[in-house]
Amino acid sequence: MNYSKIHINPISPAPTSGSVLVIYTGGTLGMVYETKDRQLVPFNFEQIIEKVPEISRLDFEITFLSLPKPIDSSNVNPEIWVELAQIIGTHYDQYDSFVILHGTDTMAYTASALSYLLENLNKPVILTGAQLPIGVARSDARENVITALELAAARNPDGTPIIAEVCIYFNSSLLRGNRSKKKESSDFNAFHSENYPPLATAGVHIDYNFPYIKPYQQNAGLIVHSSLNTRVAFLKMFPGISPEVVQAILGIENLRGIVLETFGAGNATTDIWFLSAISKAIEKEIVIFNVSQCDGGRVAQGQYQTSKYLQQAGVVSGSDITAEAAITKMMFVFGIETDYQKCVQLLGTPLRGEMSI
Ligand code: ASP
Repeated sequence: MNYSKIHINPISPAPTSGSVLVIYTGGTLGMVYETKDRQLVPFNFEQIIEKVPEISRLDFEITFLSLPKPIDSSNVNPEIWVELAQIIGTHYDQYDSFVILHGTDTMAYTASALSYLLENLNKPVILTGAQLPIGVARSDARENVITALELAAARNPDGTPIIAEVCIYFNSSLLRGNRSKKKESSDFNAFHSENYPPLATAGVHIDYNFPYIKPYQQNAGLIVHSSLNTRVAFLKMFPGISPEVVQAILGIENLRGIVLETFGAGNATTDIWFLSAISKAIEKEIVIFNVSQCDGGRVAQGQYQTSKYLQQAGVVSGSDITAEAAITKMMFVFGIETDYQKCVQLLGTPLRGEMSI
């Protein structure tokens, strides 16, 4: 694959403190209004760099690399996630940290997928974007990009990176990527993480929340996974859901698993037809992963009668995982493992800090 690259050397005479690879994928940050009907479309990234001249005042080396065809992140897919993981893998020894410029719509899915694909990650991978294009006067892009770069370059006194995991930086908060959710389509404060505190908050100073940051692991060798299995689906419960809807989803040919989006603490209807559909699916070795429709709190199977039977049938509790982290975890687990019991065990275990036990 041919990627365009631009290298920016700091203008300050001081010695540089590391190197960051910025990977541009598209998103509102780099979009322009098409003149004809005022739609936002992805734009050439050279023009983006011109809009943030402050970048050359940072005291580290920055290289920009653009995907051949920048996208609106609603078009992201598992092939692009694998491509991003491989770009990081091939440049891992050459750069100290990575920043990914990405659309906000699916940023939480990409961050989650990358957290699984990059096993033993020991360097920062920070995704950021913007709610307004960088060329717009009130855009949030400049602050998001510059602070994401500073967070990526930040070091402990012993020289190790402060952040050594996949994160999202947006509107002053650094969040663990696989704990994040897009919560707002128009406010600048677009992301939240209900079940895990921010890893850092950027005000006049950057305050790190050290107890919650994944510790740097000595001698960890990066493993880049490259297989994601898309034989998965969401099944969202709603009062009045019909047997036809449930059967249509559970009857998908070669389906490996579903994320069952339940009510409250993991509850669903106790109608006999539903219980029997779930049990039959499990007998066919379709994994059912129970994730709450609530953003905060967790699944506690057995707390109510309306979840007890799910537990008895062999449904896997997703605890406090987000739907984004759950569906990408399923793709990852089914990509590396074919045995049903091992998949059940992996799904119920935190792999990258995506859920609490
Ligand atoms: N549709 C855009 C995208 O996700 C929205 C954004 O970037 O904020 O690419």
